[in-house]
Amino acid sequence: MAEIIDGNAVADEIKDEIVVEKKKLADKGITPGIATLLVGDDFGSRMYRGQVEKNCESVGFNYIDKSLPEETTEEEVVNVVKELNEDPKVSGILPLRPFPGHISDSAVINTIRVDKDIDCFHPFNMGRLTLGEPTLAPCTPSACIELMERVGVEFEGAEIVVVGHSNIVGKPVALLALNRNATTSVAHIFTSQAGNLEKHTTGADILIVAAGKAGLITSDLVKEGAVVIDVGINRVKVLDEEGNPVLNDKGKPKTRTVGDVDFDDVKEKAKAITPVPGGVGAVTNMMLLKNALTAAKMQAGLE
Ligand code: NAD
Repeated sequence: MAEIIDGNAVADEIKDEIVVEKKKLADKGITPGIATLLVGDDFGSRMYRGQVEKNCESVGFNYIDKSLPEETTEEEVVNVVKELNEDPKVSGILPLRPFPGHISDSAVINTIRVDKDIDCFHPFNMGRLTLGEPTLAPCTPSACIELMERVGVEFEGAEIVVVGHSNIVGKPVALLALNRNATTSVAHIFTSQAGNLEKHTTGADILIVAAGKAGLITSDLVKEGAVVIDVGINRVKVLDEEGNPVLNDKGKPKTRTVGDVDFDDVKEKAKAITPVPGGVGAVTNMMLLKNALTAAKMQAGLE
């Protein structure tokens, strides 16, 4: 049975470290701050915004909410980013996507000051990451690495397979692994469609899954003794023993959050595994705060 990697415990450790660093900065008259930029009313983005606000409060960071109506023009959004770039209370800017269709991601992201780009969206920072010189590393990918480092996983020469090739998780986590001298492969939807997913995943000493598909990874796709990091977040219906949906008080199907990995099945075969919830997500939140702190230091000429 696998070691369950406790993301909440790792997140608490990182939070304690942030609080210590934050106090040292306060002595120099510096308070880190995060501004979120939300355009429209996307449910997931609203949830994430609230979480960032709560996390900032919990460590005494400034928090600035820029929630703009759906009909805000691209030019107006870009102007808000320019204001945030100049605002000394803001050390990091987090655009919450998806934006409404009339706003181009790149128009917004390319406007963010590179030393305030705390989730490594800007092409300059992605370039630094590719060169192995990240300053503000992307939060979810670094959370995956941090979780493994804190439980003593060795990267050099390890076979790492990443499932998912998005710009925000799959590609950057593969680069972070490559920068640590792991032998890194990236599988994705076309790997599955070509019938080759299992061929790759069963060779992985470390399997990082970020596909957004509940139950994608079952034990037959995992090597005995692998470390399995589950990034996926999916809402699924709760089923009873006969496979029927369990209803709540309002007669609606109850749902729960699961990852992309069939946890109960895979934990019997893996050496270590992250749960969902309580794994990568918890640490991602802390990596964002950590980046805001680093950004504040950079802006003060301390780093
Ligand atoms: P995305 O939709 O942008 O990308 C999904 C990737 O998975 C694509 O590269 C696609 O090719 C691949 N994929 C989809 N189906 C597949 C299949 N059947 N076989 C192989 N590959 C397949 O998603 P994303 O933004 O990268 O997020 C991935 C998941 O991670 C989502 O569930 C998301 O909610 C979650 N997520 C979690 C955190 C966190 O902090 N825990 C942060 C960001 C995203």
